[in-house]
Amino acid sequence: MNRPEMSSETGMAIPTVRGMLRLFGRAFLLRCPHCGKGPVLQSWMKLRVKCGTCGLRLQRGEHDTVMGFAFILFALVGLFSYAVLVVTLLVTRTTPWDLLQNGLPVLVIVELFAFFPFAKLLWLAFDLALRPVTPSELEWHRSATQQFETERDAPR
Ligand SMILES: [Zn+2]
Repeated sequence: MNRPEMSSETGMAIPTVRGMLRLFGRAFLLRCPHCGKGPVLQSWMKLRVKCGTCGLRLQRGEHDTVMGFAFILFALVGLFSYAVLVVTLLVTRTTPWDLLQNGLPVLVIVELFAFFPFAKLLWLAFDLALRPVTPSELEWHRSATQQFETERDAPR
């Protein structure tokens, strides 16, 4: 019943700046990085299994996309929080330490939810930049009925 996993047919590609901007721009617009359309969101916190237009599975049939996604999410949260801290220090005469001490942790929690779908799609964009989808891989995604190729620790 299990089909073999798809291994990349192309070697690791060196992405062009223009190609990266296109992939990341689509992710920032919450669209499919591959085709630029969608829909890709089932809800704010959950991606659809496949892009509604091109049929690419948004985790590429692999379990380990969560690692890259978590890295992107924490990077976004960290960068945005530091930006808020720096801007606050620059624009206030007396540093509002109480506000920062209580507000930044709340802000971090809000950011974790706010950046969630962006982080997932940005990671997919990054993955696609280095490992572009071949026509046969896309066909493999379109013909799949399940999110992952193996049932190994697949979410139920
Ligand atoms: Zn698509």
